[in-house]
Amino acid sequence: MDGMLPSRPVSRVRLLPSAVADRIAAGEVVERPAAVVKELVENALDAGASRIAVTIEGGGIERITVEDDGAGIEPADLALAVERHATSKLADERLIEIATLGFRGEALPSIGAVARLEIVSRRQGATEGAAITVTGGAKGEARPAPASPGTRVTVRELFFAAPARLKFLRGPRAEADAAIAALRRLALAHPGVAFHATVDGREVLSLGPATMEARAGRLLGGEFASHAITLAAERGPMRLSGLVGPPSLTRATPAEQHLVVNGRPVTDRLLRTALRVAYAEAIERGRHPVAALFLELPAPLVDVNVHPAKTEVRFRDADAVRGFVIAAIRTALGGAVSAPVAAAPLRLAPMGPMGALAEAPPPPLMGLPLIAPPRAAVSAPAPAAADHPLGAARAQLLATYIVAETADGAMILVDQHAAAERLAHEALKAARASGAVPSQALLVPAVVELDGVSAARVVARAGELAALGLAVEAFGEGAVLVRALPAALAGADPAPLVRDIADELAEDETTALTLRLDAVLARMACHGSIRAGRRLAPAEMDALLRAIETSPGSGTCSHGRPTWIRLAKADLERLFGRR
Ligand code: ADP
Ligand code: MG
Repeated sequence: MDGMLPSRPVSRVRLLPSAVADRIAAGEVVERPAAVVKELVENALDAGASRIAVTIEGGGIERITVEDDGAGIEPADLALAVERHATSKLADERLIEIATLGFRGEALPSIGAVARLEIVSRRQGATEGAAITVTGGAKGEARPAPASPGTRVTVRELFFAAPARLKFLRGPRAEADAAIAALRRLALAHPGVAFHATVDGREVLSLGPATMEARAGRLLGGEFASHAITLAAERGPMRLSGLVGPPSLTRATPAEQHLVVNGRPVTDRLLRTALRVAYAEAIERGRHPVAALFLELPAPLVDVNVHPAKTEVRFRDADAVRGFVIAAIRTALGGAVSAPVAAAPLRLAPMGPMGALAEAPPPPLMGLPLIAPPRAAVSAPAPAAADHPLGAARAQLLATYIVAETADGAMILVDQHAAAERLAHEALKAARASGAVPSQALLVPAVVELDGVSAARVVARAGELAALGLAVEAFGEGAVLVRALPAALAGADPAPLVRDIADELAEDETTALTLRLDAVLARMACHGSIRAGRRLAPAEMDALLRAIETSPGSGTCSHGRPTWIRLAKADLERLFGRR
């Protein structure tokens, strides 16, 4: 019998040595430099700091320093502060009334377990400070040290004691970006506190104490600040305040939706959903509003002990929170959100094949009518147009759809934005494949306001963007100057275009640059001058139809939705029971 079982060492249950336990906890709490910055800044905020300075070097792997002017740590408490589960923030065992950002007592020991940690601190009013070091889990003795009131925590050689972690990190720039993003979220949540940050000696953030509105304006950009709608609502014990962007100012990702619950920046699905629902009828699908929302509710109604990084929360009454937030945003948006158009859905019978068009001969791509839309010419459609596969434009519906009629009596419905986007995308891809994308200088260069990090990110890619036809350059802190747009996008508004590209560049930095530039190209295409909601002259409509006919793959938009549908005469007859 014995021989049939794989031999396994007999093991007994035992307690892990504390150094091992610390390292395991470290894996959860400090997965990357941004998490270290977040934990240390949270400690500074919990200590009541009015000014916090963050220094990042070498992506935070070489060094992170967080200095505050908060309460400081008693020399006798220093050694305890770096022990696991040592916290000054839970007075008793009740985990339901947490008013501080930290409470788990895990950050400092976790950081000490995987890096070289040094804490220098002096209590406010004390005459002397003290310091302690923890090196790869080995705790030193606390010793007297010169210090100014407050605390300075320095983390060097992060993950030197957990080298496997290093493999999961991105480049120093991406790690520094992520750390600054974490800092921005905390800075937004605590507008009364001054924040300063440098990355490799360069100042990237300098914020004096401010009101919530002013802070949100600095962090989310001047354009947001000048158009945002202030919101303040109360229901029962819940309070919601903050700023929401107008429906016209949307982003390609929800990254600029900042949600703060009881002073804690969170990424909460429920609140994201509430935003989406509140704006659903006002913005295009797939776009995301910009918002800085501050929800306050009594601590027992929200559980923050859901995740080691404490970035998720659980609401005791999720429905009540969601309902309240949706109603509050809708009220704030007021007239900005119009009622949905009460259009009776057209029930389509199964459609006939679209064969004829699929076989249209492959045409030359360049010289698309769209590249220089003939906007001035407003004339009746040429009768001959009906002979083309997509026929002659007869009308525009909802400033969004083109209705055309073909010679054989079919009705063609075109989604003008989807089709124009697809065409622009194809044109851009073809131009890129054949060298550089032609660009067209703007008569007046446009200044686009961004936040500092996004602006730097766009400027850093100016070379690659120029090859895509977009000429940008730095323009002071938090802005870029756009000098030229891809010719295929002539007439597009540079501001939303550049902001989308900044968002795209901020997305997963591990993806190869060429792929990300492909994504940039797709984003660009979305900003062509023919958008939903624009009235088109008959000649423009016909030009669009002709361009679709001659562009391969134009039957679906870049997102895979159809760009046009065809109802044959027989289909129409069936719909009306004539057949
Ligand atoms: P937690 O924040 O969950 O309590 P930490 O490991 O982050 O756990 O910190 C342990 C303790 O060290 C804190 O409870 C606090 O008493 C003290 N501490 C840490 N950072 C600071 C700081 N910047 N200023 C004052 N006290 C601090
Ligand atoms: Mg903490």
